[in-house]
Amino acid sequence: MIKRTAESLFEASKKIVPGGVHSPVRSFKGLPVVPRFIEKAEGATITDTEGKNYIDFCMSFGPLILGHQNPVVKNELKSALDRGWSYGACEPYSLELADFLTSKLPFIDQIRFVNSGTEAVMTALRLARGVTKRSKILKFNGCYHGHVDSMLIKAGSGLAGTSTASSAGIPEGIAQDTLIVELDDESAVSKCFQDHTDQIAAIIVEPLPANNGLLPQRQEFLKFLREVTKQNGSLLIFDEVISGFRVAFGGMAELTGITPDIVTYGKIIGGGLPVGAIAAKKTIMEHLAPIGPVYQAGTLSANPLAMVGGLATLKQMDDKQYKQLDTNASLIHNTISEWLLGFEKGRFKDIKMVRFGSLFWFISKDGIRSIDQIPASLSSDFEPLFMTLLQKGIYIAPNAWEVGFVSLAHTQEVVDELKKRLWN
Ligand SMILES: *Cc1c(COP(=O)(O)O)cnc(C)c1O
Repeated sequence: MIKRTAESLFEASKKIVPGGVHSPVRSFKGLPVVPRFIEKAEGATITDTEGKNYIDFCMSFGPLILGHQNPVVKNELKSALDRGWSYGACEPYSLELADFLTSKLPFIDQIRFVNSGTEAVMTALRLARGVTKRSKILKFNGCYHGHVDSMLIKAGSGLAGTSTASSAGIPEGIAQDTLIVELDDESAVSKCFQDHTDQIAAIIVEPLPANNGLLPQRQEFLKFLREVTKQNGSLLIFDEVISGFRVAFGGMAELTGITPDIVTYGKIIGGGLPVGAIAAKKTIMEHLAPIGPVYQAGTLSANPLAMVGGLATLKQMDDKQYKQLDTNASLIHNTISEWLLGFEKGRFKDIKMVRFGSLFWFISKDGIRSIDQIPASLSSDFEPLFMTLLQKGIYIAPNAWEVGFVSLAHTQEVVDELKKRLWN
């Protein structure tokens, strides 16, 4: 067999794919090593083309809550494959998933499936604008909502309240309709509503911001967002693409008891296959085509394989499993925290592993709620930690701002192996 080193594969890839990757966060940018090329995976372990295996804490950036190759999901997918994998017509599989979800989530009546979190957000924003007949969207600095034009916006450097695109290729006109506010800042939100009376269609928020580090918000802040949108005739969109089905089956909406007007899902909802979803009460959802004026469509939407993968995953997530997931995460948290303190005479003692359920993040400061509080040393602190873990056969996302994911496959056995690898 030809030896396929990560170096040779990345070289080849860079020639025919921009930057060698199909999503930038896979590129190991700024790190002194090329991306590993993962060939296969099982449970909590991934194996690269050089035959080295790693305990995986990236888990495809979240979807694999049951771990890689969960046997039940795999079997369901195999039977689904035998039936066919795309019809572009009505089929019973999405109905089964929609029925399961609407029966379990009291804050939604209807759901529509799309192919990614980005697509879900894109539709949620159009829906909110269509329902309210307003154009502006209030977004928080540090929340990620996929690569939708109007969401790749940051606070402007000039006048307060202005915004500019954080990516090339986004017209100024689009940036102007996105209002940017820091997380954890009620008064800035209020000011936006004063400055833009009757113009704000919706506030969109990650109720558990987990894409620029892990920034759990105060319950009162989320409650405030609920109240201020209601008072001003705006909608509240919870982007639960990462938190949905992870922090609880009903995500942060369930955990906080705060009911958003529109929810977006992704990641876990497809169990590792490409799925996103928009969900809300019927009065809002029925603004969507074909019965409403807000257009949305998709050739591969509600793909039968993806629907089966999602349902087979979510059906396993009962209360017992969520308890187990928390136990797994807690064991891993204790194991790594202890190692951070003691390894090589305290080489990493200033780095903390902060945790919210089965999500974690490495940072030198506790209790951060907005990105302006993140220490400037984040990346330089991260590099030696990442490299040490990688060398020991432990894989975390190759970027200081990304969170880690624990799955149900991170069992006691995996924790024992983790201990061995950490202290070896
Ligand atoms: C991952 C993520 C998205 C984007 O989903 P994709 O499937 O990558 O397009 C949007 N919002 C949040 C909160 C996410 O975590």
